[in-house]
Amino acid sequence: MNITGKTKLVGLFGYPIGHSVSPQMHNAAFAHLGLDWCYLPFAVAPKDFAQALRALPALGIVGVNVTIPLKELALRAVDEVTPVADLVGAVNTVHCQDGKLVGYNTDVAGFTRSLTEAGGNLRGRTAVVLGAGGAARAAVVGLAKMGAARIWVAALPVEIERAASTAGLARRAAGGAVGAAIEWRRPALRSAVEAADVLVNATPIGMYPHHSRPAPVPQTWLRKDMLVFDMVYNPVETRLLAGARRRGCRTVGGLRMLVLQGAESFTIWSGQAAPVEVMQEAVAGALGR
Ligand code: NAP
Repeated sequence: MNITGKTKLVGLFGYPIGHSVSPQMHNAAFAHLGLDWCYLPFAVAPKDFAQALRALPALGIVGVNVTIPLKELALRAVDEVTPVADLVGAVNTVHCQDGKLVGYNTDVAGFTRSLTEAGGNLRGRTAVVLGAGGAARAAVVGLAKMGAARIWVAALPVEIERAASTAGLARRAAGGAVGAAIEWRRPALRSAVEAADVLVNATPIGMYPHHSRPAPVPQTWLRKDMLVFDMVYNPVETRLLAGARRRGCRTVGGLRMLVLQGAESFTIWSGQAAPVEVMQEAVAGALGR
């Protein structure tokens, strides 16, 4: 990489940041297109976040991605947010536009595009989302926008209020979906999963280094006409996805969502179409696949 006085900078704010593969993904895209741009990771503690974000225009940095645990803070720290980011309640991409910080949420587009690529037709369908955090909120908004009719959000009994609030996004996202929380207990969760057309894992269950633990739901609950989406991207093939494949389900892995949300950020900053397959190859390489 040849950094010059003209190199444009973008980057990532998160805490910690060492696990991220976004630098490899974006720098591969810039190199492929011959753009004099560079993507740098910044470990920014939550207490320093607002100050760091405010410094972006002064430093001439074009924009940043924002990751755990800063996405909700970013919503409050920017000058403007898109309607989708406002609905999800989290910003994962910031763009400096004429000195103003504009916040986007590209997780929703990454989610819906990867579902669409896999032939997921949500119109009138029932979906179960496992988890009630930021990724689950992006999934509920995405599913509702794609026309799902019913969205059940499963969470542990202690998190049931958070699940109800996440499920409530279904109606607010328009499209006519209804959402409700269900408790992560055997009979309720099992009957919801068995009746679903789409299952989305939006928890970290299955993620490295705990990838050998059981999948969030048993393989025997899955039907072959279901679509199973696991947002976890490391490992690329989680136990949930492997089990779903064995049952004959269509599957979508978190790696594709990661790449497509990154592609959306790339276009917001650069105004250019992202070289998606180059980015995918870079991420797969960085994850050792
Ligand atoms: P988060 O805000 O921490 O939310 C995780 C949710 O899962 C919470 O509701 C949490 O409940 C629940 N959960 C965790 N362990 C559980 C367990 N053993 N049983 C039942 N529920 C459990 O995290 P997030 O930001 O939403 O991210 C979730 C996952 O999605 C992560 O693996 C992340 O890497 C992935 N993700 C992927 C992409 C992508 O582009 N592929 C994008 C965003 C996120 P508690 O609060 O009770 O723990």
